[in-house]
Amino acid sequence: MSLDRFGRNINYLRISLTDRCNLRCVYCMPEDMTFRPRHELLQDDELLRLVNIFAELGFHKFRLTGGEPTVRAHIVDLVHGMAGTPGVEKIAMTTNGLLLDRLARPLAEAGMQRVNISIDTLDPQKFKKLTRWGEVEDVWRGIQAAEAAGLEIKLNAVVVRNYNDGEDLVDLARLTLHQPWQVRFIEMMPFGDVADFQLAGVVSEEELRATIAAGLGPLRPVNGGELDGEARLFRIDGAPGTIGFISSVTQPFCASCNRARLTADGRLRLCLLREMEVDLLTPLRDGADDDQMKAIIKQGIWWKPWGHGLAQDVIPLNRVMSEIGG
Ligand code: SAM
Ligand code: SF4
Repeated sequence: MSLDRFGRNINYLRISLTDRCNLRCVYCMPEDMTFRPRHELLQDDELLRLVNIFAELGFHKFRLTGGEPTVRAHIVDLVHGMAGTPGVEKIAMTTNGLLLDRLARPLAEAGMQRVNISIDTLDPQKFKKLTRWGEVEDVWRGIQAAEAAGLEIKLNAVVVRNYNDGEDLVDLARLTLHQPWQVRFIEMMPFGDVADFQLAGVVSEEELRATIAAGLGPLRPVNGGELDGEARLFRIDGAPGTIGFISSVTQPFCASCNRARLTADGRLRLCLLREMEVDLLTPLRDGADDDQMKAIIKQGIWWKPWGHGLAQDVIPLNRVMSEIGG
């Protein structure tokens, strides 16, 4: 078990497999984003060794993210290797879905169980504007491939003022009337170079709920309004699916946070919205043994921060979202 100094049991690791991406969403990275040289990133054997170490420390849930995790070479072999690691119980992925058409089935066969697919609007023009060049039909094909492969599906939409804060939300939420999916709306968070844009475009959960209820009827709380992971869940009467809100900015869920992040360049990031990181890559490459690595990780986890500092204008500037792994 890995406890922090506030008594939180940290057992969920989100791994950024790469800082690269085949899209450039306006809320995530600048269009002229430069990426790290590959030798600065964790290699497959290093990654699998770290997964084994984290599993021995009590981590049992792992999520692959990025950047875009599906653009990483050997992704299916990596998932296979993770699934065979003792202690690893759940493997999920957050993806833009573009490559799921051909990868969903091999990933499911390799041991991945869940997928969160990002789709901010169903409108092809707006989708292109938000992602700078993406085609929403490709994501839709990816969603269908994920379903056919038997993966559990959640859809994620980041809401950006004047981009997708109106009918788009209602159209996305309407999917839950016909599908058993969870459609989650994410409040935009500020990072690095794109922080000004992000802060100007945040739409609060309260406003999102009002817009959806005006279009589809009242949203009934699921689980008595308790958090499900990071999302607060609701259901429209008679719907098989649920609607979730992830409101890290206006309603942070720090008390129940059980997660840590591993960046593609091998840093342990203890809070998405705080700059604190612990370098794991250097000791790993300098020959630290498993016990030494465990000591470094446990020490980092102990000092995991409590709460973000957005209200005090403390914005993490050292990285943008795609580098941390959302
Ligand atoms: N490329 C994959 C994708 O888009 O799903 C995985 C990486 S992406 C960084 C992970 C999640 O973070 C996505 O759901 C994305 O929409 C979300 N995200 C990106 N930038 C964000 C921001 N500034 N605030 C909130 N969520 C953000
Ligand atoms: Fe790429 Fe995902 Fe960031 Fe969009 S949100 S630019 S798909 S990493």
